[in-house]
Amino acid sequence: MSAQNSPESTAATARAVTMEKLVSLCKRRGLVFPTSDIYGGLGSTFDYGPLGVELKRNVKEAWWRDMVQGRSDVIGLDSAILQHPRTWEASGHLQNFTDPLVDCKSCKQRFRADHLEGTRCPACGGELTAARQFNLMFKTFMGPLEDTANTVYLRPETAQGIFANFANVIDTQRVKLPFGVAQTGKSFRNEITPGNFIFRTREFEQMEMEFFVQPEAIEEQRWFDYWVAERFNWYVKYGIARDHLRMRPHAQDELSHYSRGTTDVEFLYPFGWGELEGIARRGSYDLDQHAQFSGKDLTYFDEEAKARYRPWVIEPAAGVDRAMLAFMIDAYDEDVVEDETRIVLRLDPRLAPIKVAVYPLLRKGGHPEKAQEIRATLSRYVTTAYDQAGSIGRRYRRQDEIGTPLGVTVDHQTIEDGTVTIRDRDTTEQQRVPIEGLVGTVIERIGWYR
Ligand code: ATP
Repeated sequence: MSAQNSPESTAATARAVTMEKLVSLCKRRGLVFPTSDIYGGLGSTFDYGPLGVELKRNVKEAWWRDMVQGRSDVIGLDSAILQHPRTWEASGHLQNFTDPLVDCKSCKQRFRADHLEGTRCPACGGELTAARQFNLMFKTFMGPLEDTANTVYLRPETAQGIFANFANVIDTQRVKLPFGVAQTGKSFRNEITPGNFIFRTREFEQMEMEFFVQPEAIEEQRWFDYWVAERFNWYVKYGIARDHLRMRPHAQDELSHYSRGTTDVEFLYPFGWGELEGIARRGSYDLDQHAQFSGKDLTYFDEEAKARYRPWVIEPAAGVDRAMLAFMIDAYDEDVVEDETRIVLRLDPRLAPIKVAVYPLLRKGGHPEKAQEIRATLSRYVTTAYDQAGSIGRRYRRQDEIGTPLGVTVDHQTIEDGTVTIRDRDTTEQQRVPIEGLVGTVIERIGWYR
């Protein structure tokens, strides 16, 4: 079903958000800036501003807590961006990590052949060249000599660093199948057609986990189904509407060179359905290849079966930037408060860049001092903001727009009886609570601290 006629697309049109509004909010409030803005930008590359970096850290933190910290069967890793060049021979990326590139003979624009609907140039209708395969890996040189012997690649996925460390991990950790190794980090792909804001860029961040299982069909299927459901529900847990998500199994002819089967979790972006995360069945492909190319033993010893084998792998591979984009899109809302339209990012409190804003009602009477003191205490546990500029209504709106879930107002009563009001972003309701115990109240309402 295409995005145009699916029932879900009506849900998208009913949303207040458009890419234009979101991009503008991101720039205006310091979430995402175009890279090298002062030099006119660097095609489809973005920097994360003071608020964006917090949101992005929270997305990664949420993933880490759920995929590593909260589980007894997954451990973490942080491998280098530069790997031995043999890695990419073994993994098949040097040979196969290509996209078909076509040029328009008239207007000279470039396109990915597999993204085109017809056989003519979508921009001017001109004739297209035959497709040639274009490798997506960025190259650079290690050391001062710029020759082929010193060529290294910026990793196009984090996964290979996990496979290359398989022996290190099983030799040093007490792991037993099934178990996973997870990592987050930058990846680079020289995409032919980046675009749609932070959806497709050439430098991006991934959150990947390789889950090793016994090489046995029923076991593998069970874990594949488990991870597809788990990852789908993860997005729902942090605020994505269920009807903006779908699972899409890949057709045989679109599978990556390493995959025996892949299901994507797709999200309904304002520009249509697109991938958020791919869950791939990599079999023992990667360990087999690295064993062959390195000559090292990459088997696992199964104590119970008294057998050695190379496990099979299920890989949930997500993008940090895409997840962040999806969370912002689904959080974006406009409503009317006190006869005025307000923009409000209804982010899950755990993801919100700033958890609590503290406002002194007046610039005198001890309000600022008390407010600063409260802010300092809260800052030891959560991210905070302090705002004393303008009317209190304006200040609330500034925080609503960036998704700050809680506001604490210090007023004359605070000075008298040691209470403050807590305002809720979504309902705008206020509640008076004692300062004593405020930290606990806040952490409980946020759901974690950071
Ligand atoms: P696509 O089909 O959109 O090019 P892919 O199938 O090549 O993506 P994977 O190799 O499965 O992507 O990578 C896992 C995840 O990494 C993707 O689901 C996406 O979230 C993220 N990702 C991949 N390429 C990019 C990119 N160029 N920009 C931002 N995120 C990306």
